[in-house]
Formats: sequence, structure tokens, C-alpha cells
Amino acid sequence: MAAYLRMSRGRYGSCQVKGGLFKCGGAATAMCVYCARPFCERHGAIGPEGEEVCASKNCVAKREDLALHLVYKQDVLVLNRQRLCGIEVCGVDFAGQCTRCKGYFCRGHIEMREMAVIEEGMRFERPVLVCRHCWVRRQIWDRA
Ligand SMILES: [Zn+2]
Ligand SMILES: [Zn+2]
Ligand SMILES: [Zn+2]
Ligand SMILES: [Zn+2]
Repeated sequence: MAAYLRMSRGRYGSCQVKGGLFKCGGAATAMCVYCARPFCERHGAIGPEGEEVCASKNCVAKREDLALHLVYKQDVLVLNRQRLCGIEVCGVDFAGQCTRCKGYFCRGHIEMREMAVIEEGMRFERPVLVCRHCWVRRQIWDRA
């Protein structure tokens, strides 16, 4: 990975991440998968799966949330396979599917909420069934 970084130095132009008040402007070596900004070695990191994420606050929050979300989805799946609600302590049969994580939850753990959805390339708000976890994390993901 280090060799790759050296070889590709500067191929993305200049770093667009702010260092203090101004954009850094250093030689960018990667491009953020979330905001599509090019960034230098000091202003981002390459994840274990090779995903390039810049150091801006929103993007770091997204990366951390995604790691938690994958763990959550795994836990939900295990419970759903036993035909149980995706919330560990619950143990009730499920009643509906979450639009975001695709997990199944009981009536108490899933709700109709106004949420931004993307369908056929269009973004609009409409009521959808979501679990609590996805409702809370929307604040991170709905930020540009
Ligand atoms: Zn970014
Ligand atoms: Zn930089
Ligand atoms: Zn969910
Ligand atoms: Zn439940």
C-alpha cells in the first residue's frame, strides 16, 4: 500500500481538505469515497477494505458509523434467521422490514417515519418503515 501511495503521488491533483482556514493544497494521493474530494496523505486514510476516506468531520463520522452499522446488521440477521425481532433483548416475532438496513423488527421496534429516500435517482421525503438504529444514524448520512 505504501509503495502504491508513493507511485500515485499527485495523480488526483491538490488536496481539497481544509487544514485550518485554508484548503491544504498538498499533492493528493487518494479520493474520498463519500465526498469525492481528493486528499493528501495527511488528510485522510485508506481503510482495511481499500476504501479512501478524507479527514473531514462528516466523512470520518460516516466511516465510523458504517463500521458500527455493519456489526448491527450482522446481529439483526442472526436474530431474524430465528424469526425474531432484530433487537437482541426483544425476542418477539417480527412485524415489518426496515427500509434502510433491510432487517426485520417487531411492531415496537420499527416505525413509520418521514425520511429521505432515493428512488430511480430522485431524492424525496416520504414515510417509510425504519428501525430505531437507522432513524438515529440518518443524521450522519443525510448530510452532504
Ligand atoms: Zn470526504
Ligand atoms: Zn492535505
Ligand atoms: Zn434499520
Ligand atoms: Zn422488537
